[in-house]
Amino acid sequence: MDSSDEESREEYLFKIVIIGDSAVGKSNLLSRYARNEFNPHSKATIGVEFQTRSLEIDGKEVKAQIWDTAGQERFRAVTSAYYRGAFGALLVYDISRKDTFQNVAKWLEELNAHADTIVTRMLVGNKCDLESIREVSVEEGKSLAEEQEFFFIETSALDSTNVKQAFEIVIREIYSNVSRKVL
Ligand code: GDP
Repeated sequence: MDSSDEESREEYLFKIVIIGDSAVGKSNLLSRYARNEFNPHSKATIGVEFQTRSLEIDGKEVKAQIWDTAGQERFRAVTSAYYRGAFGALLVYDISRKDTFQNVAKWLEELNAHADTIVTRMLVGNKCDLESIREVSVEEGKSLAEEQEFFFIETSALDSTNVKQAFEIVIREIYSNVSRKVL
């Protein structure tokens, strides 16, 4: 076995959390990304869940362990354990519900209060398929992201628009920071 074989087996595992108001589409973004599934009905189960997805970057296996609040935000039960060790966060709102966009500030506060690492953050305007009932413009999303130095993307878990990109931009940024030893 030569050293290139050794190197190709190098593995990375990053924890990423998804946060945002209830019903913005967090679980569906995760199931669309991890299993290419969409569930039109809100889930009945409550409890933290995560799913793992691997991708190859620079010949290395990079695994993202992506956590979903799985409904706990309804009971204000998202605890510091949820955030612990996270290197990335997707802050999700629903483009057809202004209140969910306004609440991003609250989620950011929570994230800042609990995060124990430098977190790569992506602002995600989900449900962009609902253009006809849009309440949050693309510009509003963009300008919040610029102000806070987040990445920004609009997605649809329903029709798959940008879902892969939303997760993979974050994963690649974390990998790039870790491999340059910024983190
Ligand atoms: P969570 O509570 O944030 O995890 O949200 P869910 O993933 O359970 O989704 C809440 C509701 O929004 C469900 O009825 C989903 O089918 C619906 N939903 C999720 N993503 C989208 C989307 O991209 N477009 C549309 N039109 N509906 C969505």
